[in-house]
Amino acid sequence: MVNPKRRDFLVAASVFGATAATVSARAQTYGNPDLPPEGAINAANNPATRRTPIGPQNTALADQFPSAGSPPATDVDGLPMFWASFNNAHKRIQNGGWARQVTKADFAISTTISGVNMHLSAGGIRELHWHLTAEWSIMTRGRCRITTMDAEGRASVDDVEEGDLWYFPAGLPHSLQGLGPDGCEFVLAFDDGAQSENNTLLLSEFIAHIPPEILAKNFNVPPDAFKTIPLSSKWIFQGQEPGTLAADRAAAHVVPGAAPVIFHLSRSKPRHSTAGGTIQIADSENFPISKTVAAALVTVKPGGMREIHWHPNADEWQYWMKGKGRMTIFDNGPKAVTMDFNPGDVGYVKKSQGHYIENTGTGDLVFLEIFRTDRYEEVSLSNWLTHLPPDLVAQHLNIPASTIKRFPRGGPGIVPI
Ligand code: MN
Ligand code: MN
Repeated sequence: MVNPKRRDFLVAASVFGATAATVSARAQTYGNPDLPPEGAINAANNPATRRTPIGPQNTALADQFPSAGSPPATDVDGLPMFWASFNNAHKRIQNGGWARQVTKADFAISTTISGVNMHLSAGGIRELHWHLTAEWSIMTRGRCRITTMDAEGRASVDDVEEGDLWYFPAGLPHSLQGLGPDGCEFVLAFDDGAQSENNTLLLSEFIAHIPPEILAKNFNVPPDAFKTIPLSSKWIFQGQEPGTLAADRAAAHVVPGAAPVIFHLSRSKPRHSTAGGTIQIADSENFPISKTVAAALVTVKPGGMREIHWHPNADEWQYWMKGKGRMTIFDNGPKAVTMDFNPGDVGYVKKSQGHYIENTGTGDLVFLEIFRTDRYEEVSLSNWLTHLPPDLVAQHLNIPASTIKRFPRGGPGIVPI
């Protein structure tokens, strides 16, 4: 009589034996360098290693992450999660607009930047407020009127449109209001991963927590002048659409251009422009007020790739705006992890970790790279390797110097060049 358990063990042992032999034959081959080898290619001859789960799963979600479900054979696990999304972030909705955020509280890797995606209806107001961090923002749809005052007391009122940026230094007060016909949508980046949209200092709460006689003394009016103030915060509320920009500026005693806080990023001249796409930069060199945030607006055409590079001076916070892509990040260890991204997603790359981004869709891929620094900096792998004695590189990589001389020089940003 055959012992079924014994028989199962023998079958399992023989499968394991065949797999082990296959594995050792493939170990440390080109495109699959690690021991023990990782990646689906190692199980190609072993049907017992199923490629897809048959247990509980959400295919709508799983299908968005093909690179997680079947990573490239060059990947090695071990990086902290560097994907997050506004798509599944809690939306705080009030009359006049909404906001949702991705902060360090739910995206642990993101220590330098927190992000907020906000909508304001036409006339919808994000209440007058300030906070401990600087606020950088890009308008992604519609129009908005913004007000602020700088540290020398110079006020500004501006209208921002799709593709424009604004920057409010830490602690300076401001407001936002959606304009017609359909309000606006934008993404804020605070220069601290712990900043939350829900812990800003609000005008309504401040006034409500000052005794009436102090308000009277401060503003030189009778105490009952404030008897109708709101007793709880407004945060976002539906207001009346403002009049013309010129009229608002005149009424607010603003000298236009005295304290510029906006920049037309999408209309700016690209720093890089190749057959593969463009990179437009906004940092303190061309947008002087933006002392703590540098940004790159990247467009990668179908089939193109944001070249292999890293940033020596800051972590990179990404906002994925259009199209589909995947990013691979390399760190010491070695570790190499690939992840897929869709519009509304957020990515994060630690300072000096090598990375590249492929357009995996059929249309343009557009995303933002945001850095908590005054200056955009990057190291291009091809630019570095083409500014070394070719023989030195040849001895490292075991490829002829003549091949290395064909690499693109100058850091194209996007390939193909
Ligand atoms: Mn703010
Ligand atoms: Mn980068």
